[in-house]
Amino acid sequence: MIVFDKVTKTYDNGVTGIKDLTLKVQQGEFVYIVGQSGAGKSTLIKMLYHELVPTSGHLTINDFDFDTMRPQDVPMLRRSMGVVFQDFKLLPRMTVFENVAYAMQVIETPDADIKPRVLDVLKQVGLEQKIRRFPNELSGGEQQRVSIARAIVNKPTVVIADEPTGNLDPDTSEEIMDILDRVHAAGTTVIMATHNRDIVNSRTHRVIEIAGGAVVRDEAEGAYEVED
Ligand code: ADP
Ligand code: ADP
Repeated sequence: MIVFDKVTKTYDNGVTGIKDLTLKVQQGEFVYIVGQSGAGKSTLIKMLYHELVPTSGHLTINDFDFDTMRPQDVPMLRRSMGVVFQDFKLLPRMTVFENVAYAMQVIETPDADIKPRVLDVLKQVGLEQKIRRFPNELSGGEQQRVSIARAIVNKPTVVIADEPTGNLDPDTSEEIMDILDRVHAAGTTVIMATHNRDIVNSRTHRVIEIAGGAVVRDEAEGAYEVED
């Protein structure tokens, strides 16, 4: 479960990223975060994986209470979540296989467990034929599938996707959403910040709209409706 209780994040230059933001997400939900550019979506998303910490308020993610977390707890928190970015953020000198395997190596998974698990997730995202390719030899959709494989390889309880279809054409975006819907169907919480009106309106899930750093709308089966 994720709980934001009146969380405020003020940047060093005095700009407010989010302000008194309160929301609760149960395990297994699929949540779209929508709102105009500058609304605070990225700030909220970055707090989930502890790239940013609150200036005030209380934040709890899974069993991690940000008030009492120690620096050495951050890797454990991050292990329970997978992150997917708009620009994929793959390591360019590593193959598809190595990019995904690396996520298991950094948490010191025994070597013998890595290969079968990596092959399994690459099969789940339909890339079993491309394991030896490098990122620059792949289409954008294929790169995003590698990035989802990397996000799910350690079986996270939460997948965070920040504008995952932002660089993809509509057909490819649908393929990526098929994969995220399958990840969700397997019991994983999915939190996705997006400007993709067609997807939000066609694949109905909870919608949380952010404006001026606060929640202005929260609907269980919402539509996009943002003026942007
Ligand atoms: P969104 O993702 O919805 O576009 P952001 O969370 O990126 O919104 O931004 C919310 C507000 O915080 C904006 O006013 C933005 O300019 C500001 N902001 C974001 N990141 C920083 C930063 N690193 N330093 C200062 N201000 C920032
Ligand atoms: P997006 O629109 O995709 O959410 P942005 O272009 O707003 O991303 O932000 C890109 C990067 O710049 C982010 O890391 C964000 O934190 C940072 N950033 C955004 N606004 C500001 C700002 N006003 N001052 C400093 N950094 C910012």
